[in-house]
Amino acid sequence: MRKKIVAGNWKMNTTLGEGVGLAKDVNEALKNATPKCDVIICVPFTHLAPVNDVIDQNKLGLGAENCADHVKGAYTGEISAEMVASTGAKYVILGHSERRQYYGETSETLKEKVNLALANNLTPIFCIGEVLEERENGTYHDVVKNQIVEALFDLSAEDFGKIILAYEPVWAIGTGKTATDDQAEEIHAYIRGVIADKYGKEVADNTSILYGGSCKPSNAAQLFAKPNVDGGLIGGAALDAQSFMGIVNAF
Ligand code: PEP
Repeated sequence: MRKKIVAGNWKMNTTLGEGVGLAKDVNEALKNATPKCDVIICVPFTHLAPVNDVIDQNKLGLGAENCADHVKGAYTGEISAEMVASTGAKYVILGHSERRQYYGETSETLKEKVNLALANNLTPIFCIGEVLEERENGTYHDVVKNQIVEALFDLSAEDFGKIILAYEPVWAIGTGKTATDDQAEEIHAYIRGVIADKYGKEVADNTSILYGGSCKPSNAAQLFAKPNVDGGLIGGAALDAQSFMGIVNAF
């Protein structure tokens, strides 16, 4: 059975003190709760180890927002998958549209990152999604399929089974413009079909496919009610413990 998941992506927000405070607040809210989904926060590299110290990862998983495409060595400023894992983190977001758009990440580099994440027992939360023009000109199915095929389809079925996918239409990220629940369901079902064609129905049925893009407490329940939407990757609304928990409790 695939997991239901709500994961926060803090992006480049919060000082260390603010981030540790936010993590404590989410951890506290989960202490006596029995959410119907796994809950994860993905935080800036600088916050990983201190946040790990203040949360109970049995209730609140911890992840990074990126990792390097090399094992180690002369790559000034980069953070390897091994370094991320050494902080106690268990997840890593890879292929976020902001990384593709602003830092030139390609399927080739993402393939390396996915392999290194898996080699270090990190679960990739792998992001895919089209820009507005591709949605409007009707090429978005091919765009999303190519992103999956190019970066992930060299994986064995066993390794593919470790991936969490996040469908995030770029036109909905941070814009306040959410995909409708029907739009999300249509593309999530398509993605599951692409996975089934390659790895079979069982692997496809077991893959968690999250929706991301202006998801908030007021629209989460409707999105999560769709059979192929297994939860959300949450940006802005993850920066406030109450609204993040509002989304968690939408399940
Ligand atoms: C994201 O960037 O992963 C995201 C979904 O952002 P937002 O929720 O702010 O649209």
